[in-house]
Amino acid sequence: MPNLAGILTETAGRMPDRPALRINDTVISYSMLNAMSAQVAGLLRARGVQRGDRVALMMPNIPPMASVYYGVLRYGAVVVPMNPLLKGREVAHTLKDSGAGLLFAFELMLPEATAGAQEAGGVDVIPVNTGSFRQLLADSEADDSVAEVDGDDVAVILYTSGTTGRPKGAALTHDNLRSNAEVARNLLDTNENDVIFGGLPFFHVFGQTSALNAAVLTGAMISLLARFDPGEALAIIERDGVTIFQGVPAMYIAMLRHPKLAETDTSSLRGAITGGAPMPLEVLREFEEVFGIDLLEGYGLSETSPIVSFNLPGGGRRPGSIGKPVCGMEVRMLDGEGRDVPTGEIGELSVRGLGVMKGYWNNPEATEAAIPDGWFRTGDLARFDDEGNIYIVDRKKDMILRGGYNVYPREVEEVLYEHPAVSEAAVIGVPDELNGEEVAAVIGLKPDAAPAGNEQRQALAEEIQQFAKDRLAAYKYPRRVIFTDELPKGPTGKILKRQIRDEQSGVPATA
Ligand code: AMP
Repeated sequence: MPNLAGILTETAGRMPDRPALRINDTVISYSMLNAMSAQVAGLLRARGVQRGDRVALMMPNIPPMASVYYGVLRYGAVVVPMNPLLKGREVAHTLKDSGAGLLFAFELMLPEATAGAQEAGGVDVIPVNTGSFRQLLADSEADDSVAEVDGDDVAVILYTSGTTGRPKGAALTHDNLRSNAEVARNLLDTNENDVIFGGLPFFHVFGQTSALNAAVLTGAMISLLARFDPGEALAIIERDGVTIFQGVPAMYIAMLRHPKLAETDTSSLRGAITGGAPMPLEVLREFEEVFGIDLLEGYGLSETSPIVSFNLPGGGRRPGSIGKPVCGMEVRMLDGEGRDVPTGEIGELSVRGLGVMKGYWNNPEATEAAIPDGWFRTGDLARFDDEGNIYIVDRKKDMILRGGYNVYPREVEEVLYEHPAVSEAAVIGVPDELNGEEVAAVIGLKPDAAPAGNEQRQALAEEIQQFAKDRLAAYKYPRRVIFTDELPKGPTGKILKRQIRDEQSGVPATA
């Protein structure tokens, strides 16, 4: 069955009573999750949604995130998951670009969701409230069918940016996502007795594939954590006997530093995987020593569903590398002309295979630029060693990785430029112990706006920071604002980001 929702109906048929999701003291079995997804499909029918229509989701990792996700898929519509931290204008962009006509939003997200829906021209918002949503579903007639789709039909659109600032929709097909869920399951040999830590957000490709879809494919249980907190993560590992932990490096760092670690029983863990950002080698070693299990690093992108490469458990793994291409994915390191660079030399990591997206939604130019010859250009610079392991060297694209989140400097710069005192702005990543990188803004002020005294300069820096904070998701606004007389520029007037980064490296981020 090509429809990705088939992984839920098949598992619910095989093991209806097995727990699928646990949140706090609530446990939801596979048959319950399946029934809820059928009710969502019934609700979509009642609302007049058509096959292929886009339906947006703005929720943390709570049970409705899973039931609506599979409900939309089984109905044959397309899921557009959004980061619950987005602000109104970001919501509006996603809704307009995807053409979504309906938005399911958790109650805490309603102010920004509603503002965005209005700006997008009156998109319908369905509030997901703890009590009333259940009632709404119970009132709609369940639709038990699973829509016939082609494996090549778009299932999910994930918004992500290249170098162009505004997020683009990576259109992933049913086959893309199913094949990568199989990869995720096979890498750790996940089985129905596993308990998977569900603290990676499902709106992002990493959590969506390697936790949600891989667990549902297998019949494993996911222990949900709606908002990551290291103390709660440790408590959940002990409470539920979590066997597989998945997280971005910042999550591992936060758990290792947490005072509760020493008294937590983590002996149930049998596997730990990381990805989304480079895992510092010292942290990997510390984790392995403290937890007594291997920490396996993989690599992937939204555009590749995501897993491209992985360090398999056992003697073959190479800490510090992102491992070897996984089954169904091929990797080449290409130069600017699309030719392979010799082994050991640095090229642009390029991918072909089952997980590679169909293209960017409604954006043939961006698709052509990203996949000019059947090979998807990731924008990451990397090299192979003699054994075929891949090492990421740098990012070609101008992206900041704060924790597991991508921050695209141009998007932040565009907001900063809106402040009346700002003449020019360059947003860069500065090294940060916890998050890997922290967002910093280097700003040139308009001459009439530049205050003379230190106190006034500090006040203006704080005002600009607040200005950005009000307009951007919390993980994006600059934690450090640095004033400079003039930003360094090249002969064409292009701001020299690399030079700015070099000048500012080592500057610690402020809160
Ligand atoms: P996203 O589309 O949000 O998943 O972001 C993908 C980007 O995250 C990649 O292009 C890489 O720059 C980065 N990334 C993912 N995994 C790793 C890793 N293991 N090491 C270094 N960078 C990574």
